Amino acid sequence: MDDEWICGRLGEDEPWVLGAVNPPVFENSLFTFATAQALGEAIRNEDERYVYWRGTNPTVDLAQRKLAALERGERAKCFGSGMGAISATISSLVSAGDHVLVLGAVYGPTTQFLRYLEKFGVTHTHVGDLAEGDSAIRADTRLLYFESPSYMAYAVVDIAEVTGWARERGLVTVMDNTWSTPIFQKPLTMGVDLVVHSLSKYIGGHSDLVGGVVVGSSRLIRPLALTEYQLYGAAMSPHDAAKVIKGLRTLPVRMAAHQERGLAVAAFLAGHPGVRAVNHPGLASHPGHAIATRQMSGFSSLFSIELATESREEVATFLDKLRYFRIGVSWGGFESLVNAPALSTEESVRATMGIPVGLVRLSVGLEPADTLIKDLGLALEGMGRLA
Ligand code: PLP
Repeated sequence: MDDEWICGRLGEDEPWVLGAVNPPVFENSLFTFATAQALGEAIRNEDERYVYWRGTNPTVDLAQRKLAALERGERAKCFGSGMGAISATISSLVSAGDHVLVLGAVYGPTTQFLRYLEKFGVTHTHVGDLAEGDSAIRADTRLLYFESPSYMAYAVVDIAEVTGWARERGLVTVMDNTWSTPIFQKPLTMGVDLVVHSLSKYIGGHSDLVGGVVVGSSRLIRPLALTEYQLYGAAMSPHDAAKVIKGLRTLPVRMAAHQERGLAVAAFLAGHPGVRAVNHPGLASHPGHAIATRQMSGFSSLFSIELATESREEVATFLDKLRYFRIGVSWGGFESLVNAPALSTEESVRATMGIPVGLVRLSVGLEPADTLIKDLGLALEGMGRLA
C-alpha cells in the first residue's frame, strides 16, 4: 500500500461510508446498544468499541487507521492536541522514581511537561549526544525522548543509531516526527517505539485545527488508550478528525510543494550577506545533511536563520517589513509565517538558553517562491542589508 492510497482512500470503500467522497462525520457523543450485556462488553474494550466520544468514534477511527498505516505502525490514537498526545504518551511510560533522557532540543512545552512531572517524582536530563547519554543514564532511566530534525535548531540525529543505543540499554524511545510528517520520514521503521505528532501543522495543513496523535505497537498504544487518553480527557472531536482526513488527501502534494519552495527560499537566504546562518537540513552545507538524506525522503519547509545582527530592534524591523510572511506562532499551513524567539523571551532566559538574538524561524507556505524571496530581500534591505 503506498502513501498516496493511504492518504486518499484507505478505509473509505467500506459499507458505512456509503460511497460518499468525504466520509461521514459521526457527531454523536454516545452510542446505544441492544442489550445491557452488549454495553458491558463494549465498555470493557472501550479503546476499540464505540461507546462515548471520549473513547473513540468512527470518524476519529478512520483518521487513526490512516495515520497508523502512514507511519507503518500497528495502531494510532488521536488526541485533542499535540501536547495531549505527548503528555499522555510520556505519562503512560513512566512511574514515580523513573528518569527520562531527552536528546537534543525538543519543543518547549514538552520540556515544561517533564519539569511538571518532577512533582510526581519523575526526573529528566537533557543530553546533547549519545556519549553524554552514557554519562547521564541511570539504573532507573526508562525513556529516551527526541526530535529529528530538532526544535528551532533543526539538527539531525542518526535515528537507527539512537534506537540501537537505547535498545541495548533497555530504554523505550519516543520521537516527535511533526517536522517531517510520515510522508518524508518513518521513524518506526528505524526502531523507534512510539512516534508522536502535532496534527495542527502540515498534516492538518490549513491552520484550522489543533490535534495530536501517537503511533506504535498495540502493546504500547492499548494501555495508553484505555488509561491516559480516557483520564486526561484530551479527546479529538469527530469534526477535527474529518479535517485531518481532508488534510491527508492533499498531504503528499502539499509536502512536495513545501519542500520545493522551502529549499528555494533557504538557498536564497544562505547566499545573502545579511544572514549569518541558515539551519535547514535540506541544504548540502547543513552538518546533518548526509544523515538526513539517508533516513528521510524529503524536507519540509520550516527552518531558522540567524540574521547578522545583535540588535532586537533590527530583528523587529525585519519582521515588520515583511509583507507576505505573516508574524505568528505555529507552522505548516498555506500561509508563510515568521517568528523571532528572542523578541518574546526575557533577555536573561534567552542568554541562558543560548538563543541568538538574530534567530528567526520561517515557515514557508505555498505562495510562489519568487514572491517570498522578493519579500525577504526587501525586508533585509529595509534593515540596511543589501544583497
Ligand atoms: N511538537 C512540535 C514539534 C511542535 O512544534 C508543537 C507545536 O508547536 C507540538 C509538538 C505541540 O502540538 P500542539 O500545538 O498541537 O499541542
